Formats: sequence, structure tokens, C-alpha cells
Amino acid sequence: MSSPTRETPARTPRVKQKRGEGQWALGYREPLNPNERSKKDDNPLNVRARIENIYARGGFDSIDPGDLRGRFRWFGLYTQRKPGIDGGRTATLEPEELDDRYFMLRVRLDGGALTTEQLAVLAEISQTHARDTADITDRQNIQYHWIQIEDVPTIWSKLENAGMTTMEACGDSPRVILGSPVAGIAADEIIDGTPAIDEIKRRYIGDPRYSNLPRKFKTAVSGQQDVAHEINDVAFVGVNHPEHGPGFDVWVGGGLSTNPMIGQRLGAWVSLDEVPDVWEGVISVFRDYGYRRLRARARIKFLVKDWGAAKFRQVLEDEYLKRKLTDGPAPEVPATQIDHVGVHPQIDGKFYVGAAPVAGRVSGATLLAVAKAAERAGSNRVRLTPHQKLVVLDVPEAEVNGLKTELAELGLQTEPSPWRRGIMACTGLEFCKLAIVETKARAIELVTDLEKRLADIQAEIENPVTVHLNGCPNSCARVQTADIGLKGQIVTDEDGKQVEGFQVHLGGGLGLDAGFGRKLRGHKVTASDLTAYVERVVRAYIAGREPGERFAQ
Ligand code: SF4
Repeated sequence: MSSPTRETPARTPRVKQKRGEGQWALGYREPLNPNERSKKDDNPLNVRARIENIYARGGFDSIDPGDLRGRFRWFGLYTQRKPGIDGGRTATLEPEELDDRYFMLRVRLDGGALTTEQLAVLAEISQTHARDTADITDRQNIQYHWIQIEDVPTIWSKLENAGMTTMEACGDSPRVILGSPVAGIAADEIIDGTPAIDEIKRRYIGDPRYSNLPRKFKTAVSGQQDVAHEINDVAFVGVNHPEHGPGFDVWVGGGLSTNPMIGQRLGAWVSLDEVPDVWEGVISVFRDYGYRRLRARARIKFLVKDWGAAKFRQVLEDEYLKRKLTDGPAPEVPATQIDHVGVHPQIDGKFYVGAAPVAGRVSGATLLAVAKAAERAGSNRVRLTPHQKLVVLDVPEAEVNGLKTELAELGLQTEPSPWRRGIMACTGLEFCKLAIVETKARAIELVTDLEKRLADIQAEIENPVTVHLNGCPNSCARVQTADIGLKGQIVTDEDGKQVEGFQVHLGGGLGLDAGFGRKLRGHKVTASDLTAYVERVVRAYIAGREPGERFAQ
């Protein structure tokens, strides 16, 4: 795969629109908001040297505010929420009033791929520097909390010595690339996307040409539909072309948060070798034509919505790739969501074993124990999934039951209840400065309660009922794509008091049922009534469904 060295194309400014969107390609190079100004003043990748040479030595108070609340993100660092501030006050305080002196730190793990040695390094960092915290995010990352700036260079050194990085884990940059946790070993896979992920990472991550994007840029590459490709900025989805064989169908413009949109197919088929070049073309279109005036309109989905897929493809081909793409078919949609939980045969005769922590919450101690259990079972490879689960690969048949038992003793069930399997939660009030409500602890409590209260109908639920909890209107836990999506907000209880609660979205899904849950007006639930509410909804679904009818139908 050759590495093109294209500079930002110089273009004659075209006729300016009535009110410019700040698109570089149309001549708007002057920053139109403080975020754009910050990125123009200094490439965010330069902050690493200041962290190593100034801030880690001088401590928290030595940090420049522009770096603290802006450029730090390019290396996976955000200040975490100051403890003790309730969610009702989130919107009333200035960002600096919410800032704790500790950080969350996100480690990008492209494709969620880890060796057991790397997992042990992640565990050691957690135990030494992060008070034993480690959450599996729904983008296959590990997220730490309680990080002190003084420790960051040491942590980077430990990570990089083990082949891991926090580079562009956050910020307006090409973030972690989602990939199939079982790439290369799954019977259902059309093609292994791993070489393309590795090549994109090798060529472009940390490249200053792509480190100042209008906003974040999320990528998914998978030979099967197990990475929520519909809601990524760009996705390459495995498909068989009738003439050219296995390759990828290209999607652009998916995203959640406010104004959620399902990605659009470009109708183009690309081979494995072509993926990095096409990825570079798409991210370049976004960099040059993406809207930079308003942060709320700066994701690629708004450009794709305004242009449509046909114009996007034409600009991609004519201005960036300088060639036409091959037309291709749509991939077939699987009947159920693929989360890889349970025991599954690999194509080489071994097995992979997927386990379900609740809402991705684990710890350094747990990660270390998983690494050791995997090695005892003869495996050297562990994967994190976009469903906040983990999978041990390459397990010989004779070791499967022993591994299942060890994982269960760690609270990682391989045959979980539908609630344990289907729950996801974002960071929430415990650490996130934008949060309005608690999420992780509430998810754990909800699962525990539902397992008791719905034990009588559990056997009737063939597919997990997905319940996703978000701590605010952003959608870090993909609230719009759950059967029962819960968007945190302050609500009024029966006594007229303002309490933590959720706006409910019902019937969202990906894959066969791709679409966003319906937000029913006034359909809100208090946190204290949450378990009873979910129980009522599930019982009504079980009682009223047609044979074989899924929740989202
Ligand atoms: Fe924070 Fe909101 Fe994202 Fe949850 S959804 S992690 S509360 S920004």
C-alpha cells in the first residue's frame, strides 16, 4: 500500500454562500469560533511536549487553560468532574468550576486488539496511577480516572513500550478505529479488515495534516456487522462483490448526539488494499469542506445530509482520489445484533469466549486476572468490543469450561442474563463534567434488580433487550439505538421535586432494525422508578408480541 503525500488542495475561493459555514475549501480560513482559533494558533499535537517538559513538572497549576480544556484532548486527557457537584448544577456552572485536578485518560485500542501482555500493562497502570479504575468504552478503548498530570509521561512511556498510545484518543482528530473483535478467526466474516486498520493507523494517526478537523472523526472497518457501522463518520463494511469478491462497502455521515443520523452508502466497493487511500480521501473531504462555524454543525453528517451521498462520492472521486470508485452491492443485514458474548468456534478449530462486564465497568485487578486466566487457557489475545464486552480468543476446546468458570468468578459472565448482556452506560455523573445523572452505578443496580424481578420470563427472551443509559443529551452510550434508551435529565417527581431521571426512547436498533428509538413526548421516568418502569415495558412486550417479533419491530 503506497502512502500518498497530498497537501491540502489549494483552491480558488468559490462564490461565498450567504452565511459561510467556515469551510476551508471555500476560502474560509480565518477561525470563526474559539475552538477553531485554538487549533489554528497551535497544532494540538504540539501539546505533548509541553505536558512532558512543563506541566508534568510544574503540576496542575502550571497548565495553560487553552491546553487544559482544548489541546489535552488530542492525547486522551480530559479533566474529570469535581466530586460533590450534583447534576442539577451542571448547566449553571462555568467549565472551570466543574474541573477536578484529576484527569480521565483514554487509551486508543484500534480494533480493541490486545495481547495478554498489553492487558497486564493496562492493569498495572490502572493500579499504580488510576486508583484501580478502568472502563471499557463503547469504542473499544480503556478509560482511566484519577490520573495526575505528574504521572502522564510515565504512563505514556509504559504504554508505548508495550505498543499502545493515547494519541488522538479524543479531540477533533481521527479517533480510535473500530474493528471486529474476532477479525481473522470468525466463520461469519467476509473479509479481515485488520491490515487496513493497521495501515491507516501507521500512515495517518498523529499526522498533522489530519489533526485539525472540524470535529471528531470516527471510523469503523469490519468484515462483519459487529461494530455499529451505521453511526460512524466513515465505515467500511464487509461485502462480497459478484465480480471482484470480498471487499468493503463504504458508508459516510453516521453519528448520534443531537441530530442523530444513520450513515449513507456511497454505493462503492473498495478492496482491502484501497481502504487506507479511500479513508484518506473521506477525511480530507471532511477537513476541507466540513463546517467550522458552529461546533454543533461541525460533524461530517451535516455535510453529507446537505450534499447527499452522490455529491459526496463525486467530490471524493474527482478532487481527492482522481479516479472513479467501483460500484458495489449493499451488504446483507444479519438477523440479530452481534456482540460475541458466549462461546463460539473459530475457523481454526479453537474457540473464542465473550464475557459481559456490566456497562463496561472493570478494574485494573480484573484486567490482570483476565490476562492470567487467558494465558492459563492457552490464549495470548483478548479483544474489547463496541458493546463494552471483552472476548478471549484462541482457546483450545479443552480449556473453554475452565476459562468460563474463572471469568465468572471475576464477575464476567459468558452466559449472562438478557439484561446483563444488553446494558450499556456512559461515564455519567461520577466523572463526566457534562453529566446530569449517574449512569454506571445505576446500570449495575438495574441489572441486579431486573435479574430478580424478571427471572420468571427470562427464558422467553431470545434476543437481549438492549438498555442504554446516557448521563446527558449527548449519546456516548448510543441511547437512540437501544430497545430502551434512557437519556439523563432532571425531571419532576410525583411530589413536584426536581430529581434525577431519564427521557425515554423506545424501539431503536442497528442492523436489521436500524433506526432511532421513538422519543415519546413527556415519556420520562425518575431514577428511583427506573427498575419498575423497565419491568413494565418488558412485560408488556412479552405479553403483546407476535411469534418471533423483536423489540424494535
Ligand atoms: Fe458525559 Fe453525556 Fe457523554 Fe455521558 S453522554 S459520557 S454524561 S457527555
